Amino acid sequence: MRVNITLECTSCKKERTYLTSKNRRNNPDRLELKKYCPRERKVTVFREVK
Ligand SMILES: [Zn+2]
Repeated sequence: MRVNITLECTSCKKERTYLTSKNRRNNPDRLELKKYCPRERKVTVFREVK
């Protein structure tokens, strides 16, 4: 049971560069991952959005 999600930069809140998927059973809460933001040219925290 995997669902596709979008990751949004929590710093600029505009960049949505990354698409991924997660297992709802393993990760019922919002995912947060450190990713590179091309808009800011640095690594920031990306959070799952609907
Ligand atoms: Zn950003």
